Amino acid sequence: MARIVQKYGGTSVGDVDRIKNVAQRVLASRAGGDELVIVVSARSGVTNELLARAKALSPLPSERELDQLLAVGEQETIALTAIALHAIGVDAVSYTGAQAGIFTDKGYTKAKIKTINPKPIEKDLKAGRVVIVAGFQGIDEEGQITTLGRGGSDLTAIALAAALKADKCEIYTDVDGVYTADPRVVKTAQKLNEISYDEMLELASAGSKVMQSRSVEFAKKYGVIFEVRSSFNQNPGTLVKEEVAYMEKVVVRGVAVDKDQAKIVVSNIADKPGSAAKVFRALADANIIVDMIVQNVGQGGVAALTFTVPSADKAKAVASLGPVLKETGGEVTVQEQIAKLSVVGVGMKTHSGVAATVFQQLAEAGINLQLISTSEIKISVVIALDRADEGARLVHAAFGLGEAKPAVA
Ligand code: ADP
Ligand code: ASP
Ligand code: MG
Repeated sequence: MARIVQKYGGTSVGDVDRIKNVAQRVLASRAGGDELVIVVSARSGVTNELLARAKALSPLPSERELDQLLAVGEQETIALTAIALHAIGVDAVSYTGAQAGIFTDKGYTKAKIKTINPKPIEKDLKAGRVVIVAGFQGIDEEGQITTLGRGGSDLTAIALAAALKADKCEIYTDVDGVYTADPRVVKTAQKLNEISYDEMLELASAGSKVMQSRSVEFAKKYGVIFEVRSSFNQNPGTLVKEEVAYMEKVVVRGVAVDKDQAKIVVSNIADKPGSAAKVFRALADANIIVDMIVQNVGQGGVAALTFTVPSADKAKAVASLGPVLKETGGEVTVQEQIAKLSVVGVGMKTHSGVAATVFQQLAEAGINLQLISTSEIKISVVIALDRADEGARLVHAAFGLGEAKPAVA
């Protein structure tokens, strides 16, 4: 008997018929007598709708109230999934994050999981029940509802798999697995049979929303091997696991585009020690994740700092910089029509020329590079939003990723 955690994303529970489909899949998985914990997201679109309503009332809503609101989406689908299972004779019980013992810090809207008390779920599993858990949510030590960042149901599933020592963790979504690029944008993208944690992490943090990046970080830390699969067919998916030597033979594993970033420019800031520290301290204190950073060569005692933040945090970023700029001088401008294009591969550690190929492809198409950053296994560039998909297709083709490769042994 195996213990399995399955996560069904927003499209997979998007309406009543799809919830029935999930219930049938759970029934089939249970046929072998396995213990099942099912994590579900909100119906697709619901979290965005709730967020839009809050933003229509206030440009900068209270984050406590946002979490209170956003947790509603998953609370609907856990109950509906349990009801669908009861209707086909499966004993099941639904739990919110709090009821499932998922304790987080106080970081509203992107809280981190601190501990999970496995006892309530263990008890139900022992009693032969299927346990349905609301993804994306937890509770802090004061009993406040928190959420785990967009796409956070992936994290709920992986953290539960670790806490419950599950034998398998399966992430069911609306594509067959992890591809060399978003298959909706790059039609020639190929499904990967497997991918290393580090590559998946870089692709996820570069905008491949097939997995939430923090969930991959968690999986790597606790050694949770997981499979990304489709809830609409029986095709094998993509296994995400520790890097093995043969993976380095492939230079570029995949291409990602992130259209949810904003570029912030702080110009005319005092060019002296401490200015940058103050800017980034204020952003860190506001719990904002800053990605690419560039400082130009100062002139006439002033300099410019350019960086990217998630679009959802742009208003908060500007607000948090207000007091700092009173001390350091400078003005803030936000540029939204940008996207980040990244290529990722562990093989980059041992192969050269990847950056040159990326830059050349984009240059030939007349796509201007606004910012560049690199890590050991990733190269990212910021380009105009309206050229992003074209850029992704060009770079994907340049590395031969659209050609079917023989499965790696
Ligand atoms: P879920 O609601 O199941 O969590 P998401 O919408 O969060 O699903 O993630 C699945 C989507 O991720 C796919 O529909 C696909 O368009 C997108 N995606 C982006 N990059 C990739 C990639 N490299 N491989 C597969 N899917 C990708
Ligand atoms: N419903 C949440 C979101 O849309 C969490 C998730 O889907 O994983 O971000
Ligand atoms: Mg998702």
